[in-house]
Amino acid sequence: MEKYVMALDQGTTSSRCILFDHAGRIASIAQMEFTQYYPQPGWVEHDAMEIWSSQYGVAMEAMAKLGVTADNIAAIGITNQRETTIVWERATGKPICHAIVWQCRRTAQMVDAVKAAGYGDMIREKTGLVPDAYFSASKIAWILENIPGAMERAQNGELMFGNVDTWLIYNLSGKRLHVTDYTNASRTMLFNIHTLEWDDELLDLFEVPKCMLPKVVPSSAIYGMTDKLILGGEIPIAGAAGDQQSALFGQCCFEPGSVKNTYGTGCFLLMNTGHEAVDSKNGLVTTIAASTSGEVEYALEGSVFIGGAVIQWLRDEMRMIRTAKETSDYAERVEDSAGVYLVPAFTGMGAPYWNQYARGTIVGVTRGCKKEHFIRAALESIAYQSSDLIRAMEEDAGHKLTELKVDGGASANNFLLQFQADIIGSKVLRPECVETTALGAAYLAGLAVGYWKDKDEIRENWQLGRTFEPSMDEEKRVALRNGWKRAIHAAQVWAQDDSLYME
Ligand code: ADP
Repeated sequence: MEKYVMALDQGTTSSRCILFDHAGRIASIAQMEFTQYYPQPGWVEHDAMEIWSSQYGVAMEAMAKLGVTADNIAAIGITNQRETTIVWERATGKPICHAIVWQCRRTAQMVDAVKAAGYGDMIREKTGLVPDAYFSASKIAWILENIPGAMERAQNGELMFGNVDTWLIYNLSGKRLHVTDYTNASRTMLFNIHTLEWDDELLDLFEVPKCMLPKVVPSSAIYGMTDKLILGGEIPIAGAAGDQQSALFGQCCFEPGSVKNTYGTGCFLLMNTGHEAVDSKNGLVTTIAASTSGEVEYALEGSVFIGGAVIQWLRDEMRMIRTAKETSDYAERVEDSAGVYLVPAFTGMGAPYWNQYARGTIVGVTRGCKKEHFIRAALESIAYQSSDLIRAMEEDAGHKLTELKVDGGASANNFLLQFQADIIGSKVLRPECVETTALGAAYLAGLAVGYWKDKDEIRENWQLGRTFEPSMDEEKRVALRNGWKRAIHAAQVWAQDDSLYME
């Protein structure tokens, strides 16, 4: 009987299920978008039940499309939007409020207060993270403080916390398993990435009762079986990793020094640093990478909050385009962006700037600026933000990047990748299969159950789709980058305390 590995890829805007065959090819795929809630400016929420129902729905759909049943699934691997925080009742499995999404800025002031009280260095040393509202810790604290009775119930052991991996595994297992993998734990800002334990000092600081936390497990291991009522059979749940660590694994970036950039809702650049947890001098964070060995491996990471999301914004809020795809046609209709720069800091700026209060900024607009220039500036902003991360990583690593492996929804855009190659002056490699996030989860699960023998077998599956060679001359590159730096500066100035300008 033909066997497949099922990857559940629970992203920020959609839930996806892919069945991969032994060659790492997509045998079946199903996808469903779900609702985004923006209750206040800068706030972002999801309905955790909708996350689960959409994920469950696409799992069934992917099996039905291929005409297979649970017996054909060798294992399930999970990859997920990270940091997004869900708190639910132990007794019923019902969430007590909406999930607070990684992009949500509601706890920015809480994190500022923690930093002002002098805890920044301690947090950084233990968790590898730059303290920010982006990570789960302050989001859990917010829920416990603001949902009536939540703190007391959590202390009594009545509530459970999980990121999306934990939530899906919990539901798949018929509410039996409460686990998270190392990569997801490393994004909570409550986990010590060196001792590999939940950290009591951090739990005290954010007032999070330990009894609500999941057990931390390796990214590739059999955690348990699905409840047979869910997918019609017992399937090993055998792998989990945060989406970015999963993509690093799916791109076969197994060696220290190898790098990938994912162009999804946000952009995420990760470099494998092997068994060493490298401390960044340039605003990147240190995180746990997905690994199959007994020992954990680490990665350096830089993130851009608004990557492909700027294109969604053009589509849904600005209503300038009907589909994301048509942006490359618009961009190619003009020579350049006519001096327009768009800094899409809608939810603040991540690495290497880390400014929680920055907001979107558009500079250089002249009377001749057309929709085409604006769309081009939006696409270019994705590449500029990524190139800032690449510069930071090159400085931390002490050498220039020779090639960049890319993936994610927006990596389908040829204009974007050519501009990326031009602006960083390095080759950009797009694999045949850009679903590397899902592929990574499938590999982690498939390795745990012996579907794939080892990493060498997996490496043979990586196929190059297209290479983008840099072709811009140095003078132009420098001029464009300098314009971008000025635009960033403008966004930072706007974010400053405005008392300077008050009358
Ligand atoms: P996620 O997993 O974060 O939900 P995906 O990897 O599915 O994201 O990528 C979706 C993002 O990519 C969306 O923000 C969308 O606007 C953007 N996108 C998709 N196709 C294109 C394209 N051809 N050009 C530019 N952006 C695109």
